[in-house]
Amino acid sequence: MAHQETKSVDTEKIKEMLNQRKGTMKRFLSHCAHCSICAESCFLYMAHNKDPQYMPSYKVIHSLGKLYRKRGKVDRKFLMKIKGMVWRNCVLCGRCYCPIGVPIPSMITFTRNICRSQEVYPQLDETSSESWL
Ligand code: SF4
Ligand code: SF4
Repeated sequence: MAHQETKSVDTEKIKEMLNQRKGTMKRFLSHCAHCSICAESCFLYMAHNKDPQYMPSYKVIHSLGKLYRKRGKVDRKFLMKIKGMVWRNCVLCGRCYCPIGVPIPSMITFTRNICRSQEVYPQLDETSSESWL
């Protein structure tokens, strides 16, 4: 089994990172009105037949939002799950339009940084069976 799937999770580190940007990120999360306007500006959402999992708001609410709700107390299974959400399901193109200014790409970037702190990131070497297309 890959190293990143078995290593223990440093929940204190995750909590520390979440706390560093708590005010800003929680404000952005709470500002989301779930209106779905951002969805059609995401080419991945459109390219996947409007699969709700590709909606920009879905991606941040189910990754960063859950990290805050769980106060960083997450297991490796959870991190492996959100890895796909914040890498495969988003290319950080910055095209998602939110009328109230929820900055989806910067929230996804922050979530990627938290994953990386636990050595969770896409395996792009030749031995990996993961597909990121
Ligand atoms: S991020 Fe903005 S556009 Fe997207 S659902 Fe939330 S409020 Fe609506
Ligand atoms: S930054 Fe991510 S969520 Fe926003 S439009 Fe691009 S791929 Fe979609």
